[in-house]
Amino acid sequence: MIIDSHCHLDFTDFEPDRDSVLTRAKAAGIDKIIIPGVMQSSWINIKTCCNNYSQLYPSYGLHPYFIDKHKPDDLQALKKWLTENKAVAIGECGLDYYLKDLHKKSQQFYFTEQLDIAIEFKLPVIIHARKSTEDVINAIKLRPGLRGMIHSYSGSYEQAVKLIELGFYLSFGGPITYDNSTRLRKTVASLPLENLLIETDAPDQPVASAVQKRNEPAFIVDVANAMAELHNTDVKTIARITSANAMQLFQLT
Ligand SMILES: [Zn+2]
Repeated sequence: MIIDSHCHLDFTDFEPDRDSVLTRAKAAGIDKIIIPGVMQSSWINIKTCCNNYSQLYPSYGLHPYFIDKHKPDDLQALKKWLTENKAVAIGECGLDYYLKDLHKKSQQFYFTEQLDIAIEFKLPVIIHARKSTEDVINAIKLRPGLRGMIHSYSGSYEQAVKLIELGFYLSFGGPITYDNSTRLRKTVASLPLENLLIETDAPDQPVASAVQKRNEPAFIVDVANAMAELHNTDVKTIARITSANAMQLFQLT
């Protein structure tokens, strides 16, 4: 059993063939997939997808990429949505300082508000952190008891250790399948498996063996293989441990 801890299966990229994508995922051994929400208008489609397929689990949030689409009212709407709909997490929320045109202050506003909502609803958070890991660590530190994962982790080894100490899981995907991701692969190899998750972030972040293709959950096997190699273990062990971690974090049964 493998859990894809982060996949945007609700995106229109999967509209024409979602059934076949999920059939291929099942055949590859993926039996649970977490779908993170990116903006208010995406939530309804995530809910529909999760109602249609029992192996999909919904998370709802406001992603920093779409900062121009969010309104402060969306935070109230998120709380209302969470009282009416089942969710396994809050997110995808976070801070992206790599893209310079995303207004920093307003990203910080939506991010910290969503962290507070996660605490209020006793749910874990799914965090997007690009060139912002230090600010993410500081925001988590201010909120004892907050649980969650950093998706497609790209910070340093030292920052990873801090996040693990704060009780967070670190998730890795396609980027670890590239031989030239030297620093990232070294980080993965040095971290305890008990704190790691695997993901595809499909349709984004393709694996090395399928660079030209739309990414999809079945390709997570490459991620599991890369992690197995980096930890000198077999893929079954990676699948078992990362699935147990995801079950624990998202309280799946
Ligand atoms: Zn994502």
